[in-house]
Amino acid sequence: MDNMKILIDKLARAHTLSKDEWVQLIRGRTKENSEYLFLLARKFREKYYGHDIYIRGLIEFTNYCKNDCLYCGIRRSNKNARRYRLKKEEILSCCRTGYALGFRTFVLQGGEDGYYTDEVMEDIVSTIHSSYPDCAITLSIGERSLESYQRLFDAGASRYLLRHETFDASHYARLHPAALSAANRQKCLWDLKEIGYQVGTGFMVGSPFQTPENLADDMLFLKRLDPHMVGIGPFIPHQETPFAREQAGTLSLTLFMLALIRVMLPKVLLPATTALGTIAPDGREQGILAGANVVMPNLSPQDVRKDYLLYDNKICTGDEAAECRQCLERRMNSIGCRTVVARGDSLNI
Ligand code: SAH
Repeated sequence: MDNMKILIDKLARAHTLSKDEWVQLIRGRTKENSEYLFLLARKFREKYYGHDIYIRGLIEFTNYCKNDCLYCGIRRSNKNARRYRLKKEEILSCCRTGYALGFRTFVLQGGEDGYYTDEVMEDIVSTIHSSYPDCAITLSIGERSLESYQRLFDAGASRYLLRHETFDASHYARLHPAALSAANRQKCLWDLKEIGYQVGTGFMVGSPFQTPENLADDMLFLKRLDPHMVGIGPFIPHQETPFAREQAGTLSLTLFMLALIRVMLPKVLLPATTALGTIAPDGREQGILAGANVVMPNLSPQDVRKDYLLYDNKICTGDEAAECRQCLERRMNSIGCRTVVARGDSLNI
């Protein structure tokens, strides 16, 4: 414990560690040093964000995808996925519902679907932007060119979520088909930052073949990129993928990584993800207590929710948007927090 406590204190003071120190800390994780870390992480969250939890309305607008990521349930090779794409009017209707429920950020997430060309996306984004000028539009639609990112930014999108998934190129290659590379994923993130997006990145915890060294590299990359938001969640197997029989990431390691991120980047936005809520009934509450300050309830139309399955047993696939909103409000209240009606911009600028 003592050596670990020294490292945790050092992180809280310097907000950075060497690769060796990260590896030691991640390898040396125990219940006791986790509790100590969570306490510090909560203090940093409270210092900057108090007990306010930001909400984002997630609209999963297409599950078509040209990629074949080995972990993902909507990968191209999954012939059993029932594919759908939402029309502009359907997306706008989600926004209307979301606005009435107090959402001031809309996150448009989907597979890499060639139907949504720059023109089509520009039209959707600019219509949302002019209809809801007080709202932030976040895109999460994968790897595109610098020019494409610029056009969507000019159309009114101001935030972009693109997890780097894992920093290490050889680990990345074991999770993805040969056409995808860690280098290109990372280049996209630097491009997005350069354009002026508020950028979110992140990784899966406990993905197949992941080592403490890989996680240490992820922490070093986060420190360098210094993003506005970091989304992490446990890897959860999906039955129709090559990783169907792999172990899921654990709650305890995910919470530990969340808290490490909060202490390293005290002002960053940190969601307690749906995947975290899927591996434990109170996973998201525990995530908040380990330093997270954002939740992203689902705003997708009820009839398509069961089809956006990245992993097995995903929660909230049967609920209405209003139910999700109220359920999260109650969950946050139960741990002394409250959700707020605000854009919820990052303080990590
Ligand atoms: N096409 C977009 C959106 C991907 S889905 C993009 O490329 O960014 C959003 C995130 O879900 C992914 O970045 C990945 O980290 C996560 N995800 C996918 N499959 C998962 C699984 N089986 N378990 C846990 N998380 C998963």
